[in-house]
Amino acid sequence: MKFLKGNLIGQIFAAFVLAIAFGTLFSNHTHLVQPLGDLFLRLIKFIIIPLILSTLIVGVANSGNVKNLGKLGGKSILYYLSTTFLAVSIGLFFAFVIKPGANLDVSVDSGETVKPGETEGIVDTFLNIVPTNPFQSLVEGSVLQVIFFALFIGIAVTSLGNKGKPVYDFFESFAQVMYKITAMVMKVAPIGVFGLIAPVVGDHGLSILAPLLKIILAMAIASILHAIIVYSIAVKAFANMNPIKFFKGISEAALVGFSTCSSAGTLPVTMKNTQENLGVSRTTSSFVLPLGATINMDGAAIYQGIAVMFVAQFYGVNLSFMELLIVVITATLASIGSAGVPGAGLVMLTMVLASVNLPLEGIALVAAIDRILDMFRTAVNVVGDASACVVVDSKKEEDEKTVATAS
Ligand code: ASP
Repeated sequence: MKFLKGNLIGQIFAAFVLAIAFGTLFSNHTHLVQPLGDLFLRLIKFIIIPLILSTLIVGVANSGNVKNLGKLGGKSILYYLSTTFLAVSIGLFFAFVIKPGANLDVSVDSGETVKPGETEGIVDTFLNIVPTNPFQSLVEGSVLQVIFFALFIGIAVTSLGNKGKPVYDFFESFAQVMYKITAMVMKVAPIGVFGLIAPVVGDHGLSILAPLLKIILAMAIASILHAIIVYSIAVKAFANMNPIKFFKGISEAALVGFSTCSSAGTLPVTMKNTQENLGVSRTTSSFVLPLGATINMDGAAIYQGIAVMFVAQFYGVNLSFMELLIVVITATLASIGSAGVPGAGLVMLTMVLASVNLPLEGIALVAAIDRILDMFRTAVNVVGDASACVVVDSKKEEDEKTVATAS
């Protein structure tokens, strides 16, 4: 037990194993430990908005000028889009090979279906980034709107020079306080993980999983391979970072993402890991990660690819090349539009299914095991955001060096 002392990842992992054992042995009593998980979720959620606001204002103010910021944003978005595109394709490919929906015998009537009207249009998604009342955005926790607000405060603070300094100092100190709170909350992560995982194991006994095991398998294999191939190459090629160092450094956040099913909720941990273990600057992480947690969802994209293929196979529909292309595009958009909260990917699946006229009832097929698929997609979403952060940060350093030698 000595090795677990002070080793948070080890403790979280041990909590995982205990939770699986507890959930299997006492499947009818797992609700007793659920409040521990809910408490942890609430604890990390309560950090998010003040953390994003304060660290982003400081990050933007530190980045110096709007041009630098534009570059940071441009590179992040380019990286996000390329990896998401790859993710959908990998999802489609594995579902094609594993064929999880072929010859399947499950009832479509799970009752947990989602209405297509729940997704908003692309134009509205963009318009909604601009808050009409930023304080309301803070209260309601609208991450993109808070980012927008923080960007403007950061830019204005820098352009005001000395006059903006008191505001900068306040948020700088506030950001430190929020980092400290994150570190405090992480100490109880193992207990939280236990409380989150045990009920999932208890609720989803082996009998419900059996017919849908293939789709879980497809999701797991595609997620692991996407992470290993795409992120290893990206961090090695663009940031010259050893992939093992990368995965080790981000493992805490990946495990928290896996257990909470919320990449937005995991944000404080992702920030902590990228800064402390992967050496990413605060400016980059406070800008790239909140944006990534909201719009970069590689795990969700893999899931969309797999789920569409699964539904098509179940109903015996052959998708043409053109239709597959439409799936790749809409799934990329859907993953941008997904919020980093549990179950968001399932809601966005309606948009992708509708784009190629697949029956929306197909959603009911996967709804029953969505929580399990969500675990994989959220872990990949979190690791994907971290890889973007590492890549963009190293490019920023290169840019700064070029500017320094040129001047
Ligand atoms: N739960 C995922 C996340 O928080 C989103 C999704 O459902 O796809 O990243």
